[in-house]
Parts: sequence; C-alpha cells; structure tokens
Amino acid sequence: MRARNYYWLFRERYRLIRERSAFQHILKRGAHRGFCPICNQRTIFYKVGDVMREHCVCLWCCSIPRWRAMVRVLNEHFPNWRNLRIHESSPHGAIYDFLRRECENYIASQFFPDQAPGSQYHGFRCEDLGKQSFPDAYFDLAITQDVLEHLRDPMSALREISRTLKPGGAHVFTVPWYPSQKTLIRAQMDDHGNVESIEDPIYHGNPVDFSGALVITDWGDDLCDTIYAAAGMITTIVEIHDTSMGIESIEVFISRKPDHDLESLTVGWRQRENRKARSRTPHL
Ligand SMILES: [Zn+2]
Repeated sequence: MRARNYYWLFRERYRLIRERSAFQHILKRGAHRGFCPICNQRTIFYKVGDVMREHCVCLWCCSIPRWRAMVRVLNEHFPNWRNLRIHESSPHGAIYDFLRRECENYIASQFFPDQAPGSQYHGFRCEDLGKQSFPDAYFDLAITQDVLEHLRDPMSALREISRTLKPGGAHVFTVPWYPSQKTLIRAQMDDHGNVESIEDPIYHGNPVDFSGALVITDWGDDLCDTIYAAAGMITTIVEIHDTSMGIESIEVFISRKPDHDLESLTVGWRQRENRKARSRTPHL
C-alpha cells in the first residue's frame, strides 16, 4: 500500500476517534467510503437515521445527501455556475459555506419579518421570497433547498423567482416530493393572516428560528404543472442515485425560464409538415 493511502487511513482513524458521536453512529448503522463533492475529498459516509435524503453524513464536512445532490446537479448541468449570479433563499450548513466561498456573485437571503426588504441582517440579505426587492431578470440561477414546502404563498414565490431570473435562467431546487399522490395543503391562512393547520402539524428545522418551520404543503405529482401554471417555467426532474457520493434516490428539480417565445419552437416543425403536405399534393 502506498504512503498516501497509509496517510489517508491514519487521518480517517484519527477523525473517527475524535468524533465519538460519529463513531457511535458508524458502529450502530455502518458506513462506507466515497467522495464528497462539497469538501472535495475522499471521505466516509455514515448514517445517523433512516431518512435517505437527510441522514447520510460526510465525516469531514457533515454534508447531507440532498446538499451533495444539489452540488452534483450544479456541476453537471451548470458547469460554469461559479461565474454565474446566484440567489439562494434560506441557505445553511456546509453547502452554504461551499457556495459562498466558490461563487463570487452568490447572494444568500433569509426572511426576517421585522426587517426591511433588501437590508442586511445577521450576514444575510433580508428578502421575502414572494415579494423580492431584486430587479427583473437579475439572476442566472435561483436555488432553494427544502424551502417550497414551508411557504405560505408558494405561487407568489414561484412568480417572483421567475421574474428575477434572466431569460434562460433556472430555479434549481430540492423539496420533499410525493409523486404517488396529489399535492396536499397541510395548513392555510385565516382571515387575520395567521396560519392554521388542516392536517397534523409537522415541523422541520429552521436555521433562523429555533421553533422550527411548519410544513405547509406536501408537494405531489402535480408539482411541475403547478410551477408552469404559476410562473411559466418548465421543470426537469433529475433523479440521482450514487452511493459513491452517499446519495440514494434524491430528486433535484430544474425549472427553466424560457429564453424565447415558446411558439417559435414549433415553427420549424410546422414548416416541415407543410412542406411534406405540399409534396404529397398531386400536381394537376
Ligand atoms: Zn464532505
């Protein structure tokens, strides 16, 4: 075995000893070797729970599977993303550190209800995703990671994301998705603007509010149609299963803002059909 491999094994063993909690998880649930696209090195992925999109952690940077899936999609579908102008709403964790370090024109925003839109607060730009203060056609990419399920007014957010994207730009996002069912609204606004639950309330972690974020919507098989109806964006679903990156069956969605009149896409086909029809017409 080469010295480099001895060093790698020593480093991993040292890290394992140092990270007792990780070691306990590894003993309990197992682990495997792989490559992390966020800390950009070989690593060990270990499981801390049973939710595939959340609970397989990189030993070095503590990234989770859906973050690694997001970076993989950026690398594959937007290879020049480091040179693009990107807005991410509600980022946190290792992927936030990675994106802001790697992309010069990356703007991270959080929603603080008491702060003026466009102001800076706790290192973030204050923005309500449904009422953004950015100009039209300003960004190449918008990123949201497990945000859409928490929005009180997702239609406004989708329209605003589309408005602030350049033609040809894209909204790249993850969201808990239930393709075998219709979208379920779990909570709604009452007449006073307060949120009231229809279904049993479910909360996810919230990086700026320790009380958590209520799940408003379980997005179902009509998600892509809803995005098109609300914002005119066309969505591609990229499913990633790559155990070498510690990713098991995670969907990353890419909603593109058309950069041309959609009607023009069909013109060439119509002209060809017309030529065929003319060639079939018998000469009298
Ligand atoms: Zn990592």
